[in-house]
Amino acid sequence: MSDNTSLTDVLHIQTPTPEQRVSINWPGSENIQLTVKRDDLIHPIISGNKWRKLKHALYLAQQQNVSQIVSFGGGFSNHLHALGYCCHQLNIDFTAIVRGDYSKSPSPMLQDLALWQTNIQYVNKITYQQRTNPDYLHAVQQQSPQALIIPEGGSQQQALLGVANIIQELNSTYDYVIAPVASGATLAGLIQGNGDDTSAAKQIIGIGVLKGKDYLTGLVNNLLPTECSTTSWKINHDYHFGGYAKSSPELKQFCLDFYQQTAIPIEPVYSGKLFYAVRDLIAKQYFEKGSRILALHTGGLQGDR
Ligand SMILES: *Cc1c(COP(=O)(O)O)cnc(C)c1O
Repeated sequence: MSDNTSLTDVLHIQTPTPEQRVSINWPGSENIQLTVKRDDLIHPIISGNKWRKLKHALYLAQQQNVSQIVSFGGGFSNHLHALGYCCHQLNIDFTAIVRGDYSKSPSPMLQDLALWQTNIQYVNKITYQQRTNPDYLHAVQQQSPQALIIPEGGSQQQALLGVANIIQELNSTYDYVIAPVASGATLAGLIQGNGDDTSAAKQIIGIGVLKGKDYLTGLVNNLLPTECSTTSWKINHDYHFGGYAKSSPELKQFCLDFYQQTAIPIEPVYSGKLFYAVRDLIAKQYFEKGSRILALHTGGLQGDR
């Protein structure tokens, strides 16, 4: 089981994902073409972009017969959830280092992880802040000498290769590719995948789902290899709704309406903010007439519990 096909077979990964044209009755929508890349359909449990980001690490883990993986995340992390499921299916021991003590009221994600025999270690916020500190990581490695350590969100440079596959899968070309941004690895992977060949996408736009302008741009720049790409990209910071996982009744209603009109389910943490932004930018005539827009649905629907 060392080739790519067997890994996707064992996990029942559905790629390439569909590019679905949606016609929706929004102000100004008659001027543009909207297509959704349905990475939410990659797997019923493994969240779409988390698979893209973890793919290469898991291939390597399999090839090198890694018996244990350690990673980091919050109590509601789609990343820990996806990775915990993959490890369970692949017979790899998994240790999740979780920010905060949820032992008295575990989230649905943490309950699933427990079912999948994850070793859950709750740490306080101070300890969690050390998650990228080399000395701390060295100590973690000493505790589990055999383990492969994967950073929070699966967001490491290697993750960009898996995300770049999204661009390679595209059947059409677009003026804009739009995706949500948290740790920035998905956006960076899209930029890297588009490379110097701007024929796939003329511009890539991230929608920040948390507060922090320079912070998010810095994350993406740090992940991109220098001189990687001349693709034009930017992050829009107008649609975070107050911060990560913050929402509003309007956003929640928008998610329900969108589902009713398109039969595409979305949730308020990532895809809801993305499509809300797309609707608003269309109404503000941000996109020139005739623009072909691809919105990347990154998944995350298991988190909507
Ligand atoms: C984690 C996540 C994101 C954010 O991706 P980054 O690579 O961290 O920017 C977007 N959508 C969903 C559904 C996610 O789970």
